Amino acid sequence: MAGKIMVLVVDDEQVIRQCCERTAFPTEFDLRAVHSPEEGLRLIKEDAGFKIVLTDLKMPGMDGMEFIRQARQLAPDVRLVLISGFATDEVREQARDMGVDFLAKPFGPKELLDILWKEED
Ligand SMILES: [Mg+2]
Repeated sequence: MAGKIMVLVVDDEQVIRQCCERTAFPTEFDLRAVHSPEEGLRLIKEDAGFKIVLTDLKMPGMDGMEFIRQARQLAPDVRLVLISGFATDEVREQARDMGVDFLAKPFGPKELLDILWKEED
């Protein structure tokens, strides 16, 4: 929809994709959720206008870190957020090193919207 902030979510778990879609539906975010990193990269390559991209860490085929590297090459200005149920210090540190925000799973609507609204550093 025109004027909305476009968000892409890449996660192999359907429940996470549905939760994100339901949360964003009544808001100013136009959120699209896909199940595979390859599909996510394809959409970014199409220049779909995404401002924020959230990616899961553990996915079949490609992990979230590799997805972030490739997404950055395609769209250097996009804001990236790593989401994971493996919220260890190591994973948080990896996210910090990559310069991306981190959101631990499971998360509720408030946590998701807080991270979407967070100002870029
Ligand atoms: Mg996963």
